[in-house]
Amino acid sequence: MAEAKTKNPFSNPPMAGVGFLRSTLTAPATGTDLALRPLAFTDFAGQSKTVERLKVMVGAAMHRGEALNHILLSGPPGLGKTTLAFILGAEMGRNVRVTSGPVIEKAGDLAGLLTSLEEGDLLFIDEIHRLPKTVEEYLYSAMEDYRLDIMIDQGPNARSVRLSLPKFTLVGATTRAGLLTAPLRSRFTLQTRLDYYDAATLLGIVRRSCHLLKVELDDDGAREIATRARGTPRIANNLIYFIRDYAQEKAQGRITRPVAAAALEMLEIDVRGLDEMDKRILRVMAEHYAGGPVGMNTIAVAVGEEADTLEEVHEPFLIMEGYLQRTPQGRVLTAKGYQAIGFRPLGRAQGELL
Ligand code: ADP
Repeated sequence: MAEAKTKNPFSNPPMAGVGFLRSTLTAPATGTDLALRPLAFTDFAGQSKTVERLKVMVGAAMHRGEALNHILLSGPPGLGKTTLAFILGAEMGRNVRVTSGPVIEKAGDLAGLLTSLEEGDLLFIDEIHRLPKTVEEYLYSAMEDYRLDIMIDQGPNARSVRLSLPKFTLVGATTRAGLLTAPLRSRFTLQTRLDYYDAATLLGIVRRSCHLLKVELDDDGAREIATRARGTPRIANNLIYFIRDYAQEKAQGRITRPVAAAALEMLEIDVRGLDEMDKRILRVMAEHYAGGPVGMNTIAVAVGEEADTLEEVHEPFLIMEGYLQRTPQGRVLTAKGYQAIGFRPLGRAQGELL
């Protein structure tokens, strides 16, 4: 078995604030994303339990001069998983390489990525639940023993080659933690879930984003955006970009409550933050399936969207806000769900228009 040479483990242990690379921002983010993305724990609002856990790990790893242990971040899209991965890199003073589960098709792709890392670097794998199973198995020894046994060649020439890897940190992100296999999940020292943001925290994020974008906004305008952003910073930021344009064209650039409300109406986002697709889901359940129980695949066909997208993006918010429930028989519309689309619930079997 051939053995590739390992890189020197932490020949220069990192020390706070001196002489090592800051993390490189190579996230698959748009320019607008980058302008608003918090770069340090101090800029990152909310998610206090997760942030505290990460700070403990970063502090301890820095003191020992070791790589951070592997971390799994889960939760709906747009809550800050990628942002936290970059903050971890920045706080550790290490590089962050970014990839995603479906992009790593073969063991060779993984080997290429892992061998290009330097000691202490972070590898961020987004959508890690979509990593092909054949690749996932190689990750086990890479995470545990920092080695990779890969087969090269085929037929009679096939042989296994052992590659020693630098001590790296895997930061996995997933919107569907339940789809991760037990062996993979158990190799993460920390598994932590991000929750939707409460209105007060989101209000702070809205103010910060507007400040960075030099957008003029009053308190009521900020509150209007925060309450309609589905507890999600990415949505809040996207709304701000649109409302900024709207305010510029129609209200001398200043975001007040009526301006924000008019712009959001144009986007068909209602006062509860429900968008067109959310309402289509609720309407289909009420009008076609008597409020359920109905399976997500059936709903997906009826609304013309992928079941995965509904489960990852729409359903968690609808459940958290109490518009629908998940039962072993399928999804069920709640009284609040009926009300959101203008029905008065008459038991579960039928709704009557208000
Ligand atoms: P995810 O990886 O979970 O889909 P991201 O990390 O890409 O989410 O976050 C989306 C955007 O939301 C980021 O570009 C950032 O601007 C903003 N964001 C996320 N979390 C926060 C936070 N806690 N405070 C301020 N902005 C945030």
